[in-house]
Amino acid sequence: MSQPPSDPRSSRDPLRAVFPRIEESLAEGALPIVLFDLDSTLFETGSRNLRILREFAEVHGGDHPALGDVVASLGADDMGWNVHECLASRGVTDAALLEALKAFWFERFFTNDYVLEDEPAPGAVDYVNHCHQAGAMIYYLSGRHVGGMETGTVQALTNRGFPFWRGRCAIHLKPSFDMADRAFKDEAVADIRSYKGRVVASFENEPGNANLFLRAFPSALHYLLDTVTAPEPETPADEIVVVPDFRMGASR
Ligand SMILES: [Mg+2]
Repeated sequence: MSQPPSDPRSSRDPLRAVFPRIEESLAEGALPIVLFDLDSTLFETGSRNLRILREFAEVHGGDHPALGDVVASLGADDMGWNVHECLASRGVTDAALLEALKAFWFERFFTNDYVLEDEPAPGAVDYVNHCHQAGAMIYYLSGRHVGGMETGTVQALTNRGFPFWRGRCAIHLKPSFDMADRAFKDEAVADIRSYKGRVVASFENEPGNANLFLRAFPSALHYLLDTVTAPEPETPADEIVVVPDFRMGASR
């Protein structure tokens, strides 16, 4: 009998707890599967938002005297969930201008071209490669949609060095832009089950999705990236392990 695994929530290096789970699953003849969300999990979207803001300021700088200076003072780390609040909190409160930004942002954020701006989260490339090399199937699961983001997403993953063209990798995006993210993740759970493998871990930034994966795969480890969330996030379940990023050995 093997010892029960220690609780990664109390570990100083909680990300490493996934590796023995991968080994154990392989030893028992079950395909180990690790689920990774993309936006605000493997990738930081700050650079994508910042590019959009800078382009907006170039076009609309004449409409608001402070816009150019405010945008010039911002870095990728200043981007939160919402670029409009980011400007509004810095004194750009012109409702018509913010409305124009909303439309400008919407036309660009969900596109193949702009997703190439995203930077991988610290440690993410090494961590996903480590899981893959250990024998896990990598399942990229994202609410990005097919029909506008799929080629950019694959290019971003491969440009940045995430495992992709080596087998034992799957990618599952939303079939259409309009499908609700949550309904899509429910549907994805059915697809993941169809491999007849064993989900050993999941990584998400939205507590609601992490809770959903915990309910679907209760024996796996579930991690929540403490980055940004949509407004009014659910409370994460006690079992969920909160980490700042993918750097192994990073203390919290
Ligand atoms: Mg996300």
